[in-house]
Amino acid sequence: MSGVDLGMPTFPDAAHRAVRDAQLRHNLGRATSTIRNKRAAVVDELDDWEQLRASGAAIKAHTLSRLDTYLERFESAVTAAGGTVHWARDAAEANRIVTELVRETGETEAVKVKSMATQEIGLNEALASAGISAWETDLAELIVQLDEDRPSHILVPAIHRNRSEIREIFRREMSGSGAPAPADLTDDPVQLAEAARHHLREKFLRANVAISGANFAVAETGSLVVVESEGNGRMCLTMPDNLISVVGIEKLVPSWRDLEVFLQLLPRSSTGERMNPYTSVLSGVTEEDGPSNFHVVLLDNGRSEALADEVGSQALRCIRCSACLNVCPVYERAGGHAYGSVYPGPIGAVLTPQLYGVESEDTASLPYASTLCGACYDVCPVAIEIPELLVHLRHRTTRERKGWFDRLTGTAMRGLGWVFGDSKRLGRAQRIASLGGRLFGRRGIGRLPWPMSRWTDARDAPAPASESFRQWWERNRTGSGDER
Ligand code: SF4
Repeated sequence: MSGVDLGMPTFPDAAHRAVRDAQLRHNLGRATSTIRNKRAAVVDELDDWEQLRASGAAIKAHTLSRLDTYLERFESAVTAAGGTVHWARDAAEANRIVTELVRETGETEAVKVKSMATQEIGLNEALASAGISAWETDLAELIVQLDEDRPSHILVPAIHRNRSEIREIFRREMSGSGAPAPADLTDDPVQLAEAARHHLREKFLRANVAISGANFAVAETGSLVVVESEGNGRMCLTMPDNLISVVGIEKLVPSWRDLEVFLQLLPRSSTGERMNPYTSVLSGVTEEDGPSNFHVVLLDNGRSEALADEVGSQALRCIRCSACLNVCPVYERAGGHAYGSVYPGPIGAVLTPQLYGVESEDTASLPYASTLCGACYDVCPVAIEIPELLVHLRHRTTRERKGWFDRLTGTAMRGLGWVFGDSKRLGRAQRIASLGGRLFGRRGIGRLPWPMSRWTDARDAPAPASESFRQWWERNRTGSGDER
């Protein structure tokens, strides 16, 4: 895989700036703690949560192990139901297919359901360069689009904005692309929602093309499942005559029955609800009901390569619930933009380097954006071992990258491995280190000179203990076996 430069600062640089933004930290802390608490309450209601979680993980792992079979089954079912399946190897191919499909309708605009896959491929920008306007209809996506901002959360893309900031965005930007915000708009959530509804309504009524993603794609029936909270998705899926859905190949589940598991796991993990307010299922084309032209673009864009990585492929189980973001202490302080990708937080730190490769500095920095505390694994509804993946990708980063610092780190780690691999060597190293401990005393080392300053710029370097545990043991316990 060739490395892709996301064109963003590396995580340490971006996070360094973000943590100084007190308003951002306040907005994030408040929003994530609210969702976190809601999730915890509804998960606690279920006695069989761990079994559900294990089932979700097993279904996803099984599907990924036979993905080729299920993809072909899905294609046959969609075709039999009157839809058309297109295969896209990468973002450019997917964008080209969607652009051509919209052009064939003769339309120059489309309404969109919130979709991570279309953000991943930069579809809105590709359509705009072809003269096609794509209107986001999810409230948070609308806020981000109006402000020409970037999403910072999987589920709540405008989580970094508070109510008064949103009011300003609406007042400033809405008139540029449709119905303006009322002049006396306040930051009351009801008024803000009403302004968005009014702005979007004319777009829904006019639209002849809709673009969506899907939460799940059922191989057995060729159905797409879209879950959402606002009803905008239902409008997009049912009102326009043309529907184009861009779906990552990992979204497959084998059968209709599997949804029973995921439709319990997803709402509880994402919005902290027992079920989603809107669950729309589209199974092909039906006369005089819903779209008469239905296209599914199955997107690879690095997923096949991720699938080939025995450890890393776990990340493809992700159902984009965002629970791991809401519990991550790094995400809560640095925010989503610091990850430089549409996939922020712990899942972004393991998915983005796999989709785009670890050759560039920005993607290679992501597996280090974690304290490895494990909270992400604890809440993940499909039990992805994110800490294990982070360590695996750190290893890959030092192995595959050719920069001087990566070579230095690799050499240092191999040296440490050699020392830790033999108890005599380790004992000698500890004795030498304890001399340093006596030298520095309680002050600690502080800042090391370059190039080790790349380590100590971001963390304290404590002084080694003036006595190792082995030395202490020899001094206190040798010869007094029963004291153990
Ligand atoms: S990794 Fe797990 S917790 Fe995080 S978004 Fe994906 S499914 Fe949700």
